[in-house]
Amino acid sequence: MSIQSTQFDPARVPATVERIVETVLPTRHGMFRLVGYRDGTGTEHVALARGIDDAAGSAAPLVRVHSECLTGDAFGSWRCDCGEQLDAALAAIAAEGRGVVVYVRGHEGRGIGLLAKLKAYALQDQGVDTVDANTALGLPVDARRYDQAAEILQDLGISAVRLLSGNPAKEEALEDLGIAVVERRNLPVADRAENAGYLATKRARMRHDAAPAADAWESLLDGVVPAAPAPGEAEELTHRYGYLAQPGSQVIGQLRQSLDGFIASRSGDAGFHQDRGDHGHLQRLRALADAVVVGASTVLAEDCSLAVADVPGRSPVRVVLDAAAKVGGDARVLADDGVPTLWIVSGDAAVPPGLPASVEVVRLPAEDFAPRRVLDVLHARGLGKVLVEGGGNTVSRFLEAGVLDRLYLTTAPVLVGDGVPGIRFSGSDVLAEARTAPVRRFVFGQDICTEFNFAATR
Ligand SMILES: [Zn+2]
Repeated sequence: MSIQSTQFDPARVPATVERIVETVLPTRHGMFRLVGYRDGTGTEHVALARGIDDAAGSAAPLVRVHSECLTGDAFGSWRCDCGEQLDAALAAIAAEGRGVVVYVRGHEGRGIGLLAKLKAYALQDQGVDTVDANTALGLPVDARRYDQAAEILQDLGISAVRLLSGNPAKEEALEDLGIAVVERRNLPVADRAENAGYLATKRARMRHDAAPAADAWESLLDGVVPAAPAPGEAEELTHRYGYLAQPGSQVIGQLRQSLDGFIASRSGDAGFHQDRGDHGHLQRLRALADAVVVGASTVLAEDCSLAVADVPGRSPVRVVLDAAAKVGGDARVLADDGVPTLWIVSGDAAVPPGLPASVEVVRLPAEDFAPRRVLDVLHARGLGKVLVEGGGNTVSRFLEAGVLDRLYLTTAPVLVGDGVPGIRFSGSDVLAEARTAPVRRFVFGQDICTEFNFAATR
């Protein structure tokens, strides 16, 4: 940090906001400069800054002007999305290594104050929406002013920003105060059941941007998998061979297992999967894939359809690895439901007669079910983006073969003790040879999803 540029400089401080103190704040998003201000009304504000010492002449930094919200920011309230917005803003700034959160005090309840906000909550408990609740209390719908925020940004040497906000009124206010908003970006925070009504009101009555909810998964996967085809385009694509939604290929593994590495109990009870925190993530992965690969044991255990549900996109081609053709003709993966299936069996395995035309039986020599051989079969049919979805044995075999570009390994907070194994492979005597890669982590409810970017290690 440059001491010179951060020293108190009376000439740079606007008349109404005074820079009082500067220190540093270590957070779970890393170290920030913490600069404290007092405005002309005596209200105290802070700015958390990272990498802006050399602001002069460089590109507009990410900036969030965050309105104080005790309930959301400190208590993690889900009545609003303030706490998650703040966290996402700090994460975005940390990821870019540069940016500022201006934390504006006195903005509780869009400027009406903490207790008035709680009174408005009490009215909302009776069914009044957030706008009408403020009005019923004789208070403005939005009483916030942003001059202190603009002056703090100017004090930090920032005149142009890329604003992290879903609120166009905030952008306009900053522009009016001389801060150029070169871009405004909505943070990828998904709605929750507890705040969906509140957020819908802000969108309908206060011009807030549409929910990024469904797209939040896409944001998480941004750059990981090429985007899904547009709705019109998807209709034109036939699922049958020669269909190639996007050029290029990518192989992604995903598995959800207990914290101690099992996907089911000894008897095959996989009950903890009924409440999967990563449901949306898995659906999104399916929607982005051309083909989804599962082992026969998983089909027999779960009779899954592997269809896309709850997110936009079409269902991928199903690929069932089943050397002994153990999967019965009535399995959902072999159903005539408009989604084609490649049923990969060994040369002499007997398959039932009368399979639908959507099922292609692919015969491989029994000794030739290696992951690379399976991928050859898929690539020859134009299926480039492949999701290896389960179970533990199948994902482990693709991992061990070194063909996974990414692995999303979700751990659920369950200890099974002994049972059907999740990720297992032969390993090595030398820990230095353990599989690792750059990782990112996502919290999905009670689950933690770790993304291994194996492609980055090649
Ligand atoms: Zn809030």
